[in-house]
Amino acid sequence: MGRRKSKRKPPHKKKMTGTLETLVTCPFCNHEKSCDVKMDCDHNTRVISCTVCLEEFQTPITYLSEPVDMYCDWIHACEAANQ
Ligand SMILES: [Zn+2]
Repeated sequence: MGRRKSKRKPPHKKKMTGTLETLVTCPFCNHEKSCDVKMDCDHNTRVISCTVCLEEFQTPITYLSEPVDMYCDWIHACEAANQ
């Protein structure tokens, strides 16, 4: 057990907290990278919204941990809405 030489943080910093912006393709209008994913920490929800067709989808942050999961969920919601 050696003593720590420095207080360097580990290089990998994958987990982001707070505002998260991921541009993804909108399942409604198929516009590429038109969707913003944002964290609403006040309401514990994650909101994905399309800047082109203005479709919006919300999920609780506790329900889906990864934005990609939420995106999948959004696509499913889109498919359900189209039926
Ligand atoms: Zn759209």
